[in-house]
Amino acid sequence: MTDSTAALDALKRYFGYDSFRPGQAAVVNALLAGRDVLAVMPTGAGKSVCYQIPAMILPGVTVVVSPLISLMQDQVDALNDAGIPAAFVNGMQAPDEQSMVLAQAAAGRVKLLYVAPERLETQRFRNFASSTPISLVAVDEAHCVSQWGQDFRSSYLSIGDFITSLPRRPIVGAFTATATEKVRHDVVNLLGLRSPQVTVTGFDRPNLYFDVLMMETRRKAAWIVDYVASHPDESGIVYCATRKQTEVLAETLNRSVPARPGVAAGVGAPPIAVAYHGGMSPEVRGAAQRDFVTDRVLVVVATNAFGMGIDKSNVRYVIHHNMPESIEAYYQEAGRAGRDGEPSRCTLLWNESDIVTRRRLLDNDNENERMTPEEQEIARRNRRRLLDGMIGYCRTTECLHRYMTRYFGQEDDPTSGPAGTTGGCVACANCERTFTTVDVTAIARAISQCVHDVDQRVGSGKIVKILRGSQAQDLAWLNPAAMPTFGMLKDENEARIRDVLSQMATDGFLYIDAGRLPIVRFGHRAAETVAPGFHYEIKRVDRKSERAGAGA
Ligand code: ADP
Repeated sequence: MTDSTAALDALKRYFGYDSFRPGQAAVVNALLAGRDVLAVMPTGAGKSVCYQIPAMILPGVTVVVSPLISLMQDQVDALNDAGIPAAFVNGMQAPDEQSMVLAQAAAGRVKLLYVAPERLETQRFRNFASSTPISLVAVDEAHCVSQWGQDFRSSYLSIGDFITSLPRRPIVGAFTATATEKVRHDVVNLLGLRSPQVTVTGFDRPNLYFDVLMMETRRKAAWIVDYVASHPDESGIVYCATRKQTEVLAETLNRSVPARPGVAAGVGAPPIAVAYHGGMSPEVRGAAQRDFVTDRVLVVVATNAFGMGIDKSNVRYVIHHNMPESIEAYYQEAGRAGRDGEPSRCTLLWNESDIVTRRRLLDNDNENERMTPEEQEIARRNRRRLLDGMIGYCRTTECLHRYMTRYFGQEDDPTSGPAGTTGGCVACANCERTFTTVDVTAIARAISQCVHDVDQRVGSGKIVKILRGSQAQDLAWLNPAAMPTFGMLKDENEARIRDVLSQMATDGFLYIDAGRLPIVRFGHRAAETVAPGFHYEIKRVDRKSERAGAGA
């Protein structure tokens, strides 16, 4: 039997699945061929079988390093139920118990041994490892080794040492859902992977329809009410940025959306929507979650506290009332739609003020007091980059599926799904929209000159006012009338100027220094705006074709 038929056979025998998901076979085959692997797959894509199956086929023991002590028992129970000899050692067990498990493993009665990284440093474990053949070390949540990731764990730094201390170097597989280049680089270096096969897969979700709508804040609630009312028998999640917003919006939905067909209205009838956030008592939160999962209520209006471990496969839509802080966060939240594989819709509502708020939160966030000022600065810069990726998603005119999979580093696969389609996909609004190109060179030049006129000292609101020749009192201290750019764009629409300014920040011509009061400064490409051949175009949704389409 070849390795790949043995693998398929094991998949069927132990897990009852007929075929591998995309990416799984490549990872399994590489490990079986003795090659190190870095596998980047989103949560739920099926990372575990990628090391569990090689563990069953390779001789000796597979050590699985996992940070999630609380889940080890469940994972091991599930494997034992499937007939796989697995066990765990962690610091919650008594020393005797740990010794017993290790003795079982040394006697060849355990194929998969789950350990917390702290165990690797103990003498007991080192003794075990030096006398028992270990074929494979699988590192779960491998991003924890990197300070660039969200969940750095210093104990992960000892894994590399542990591997080199073994009498025979095992095959090493690293698994994570975190995509950024820096984290991947750290994983490879700090774990000491040897020319690993890198597999990035599973990020595209072809059944999800993605849409991004730029919308003024005051119009958002009405849009959401309309959406919920016109989908009376579909479950949905609405994510908001603040606890207060979740309550206000849930209340608005209950007031404005008519009762569902077949559900009696009036006192005692279940509401349309419930709020959910971290400030509610565990009982109230639990009840909200239960009502949503059992379809008693249609919609949950939540902060990002909602979702972890919630298993509801028929969520038909996820609406974001605000722009999240990163593509990672958006992907995870939006990805709660359509777990059953049925068509579902993910809509992101945003506007410029979301960007300002996000930048402000990020620059004022010093909550991790254990970090040195330098580390805090690195973390901030890192988060600023993540935010830029999110802003890029809101602004892009390309296929939203492709933007997302490319962000996660997944190659376009011409054989499957929208990411690989060359024309337009059928599952995102950008591919169905018409965009028009607008030449905004003059506006961009004027903005750049104005930033120079005010000596990079004011925010975007004041820049817009000066350019439009405003007489507002709060400008008086700047003596704007004496500036060459005063009134230079007096015939231009305010929203357009703001839009161009913001796009210029995204493209690096400007830089929004988001302290307590955001200041517009020059970005690294600022000099281009005064060069003779400067030409600047932006693409925006063609409203005329959009309206015609909506009426059709
Ligand atoms: P991850 O560790 O990537 O978050 P899991 O390994 O927990 O994901 O897998 C998620 C789910 O997918 C599990 O229920 C698992 O049994 C299932 N699964 C994994 N591989 C396959 C497959 N080839 N076919 C069908 N289901 C699979």
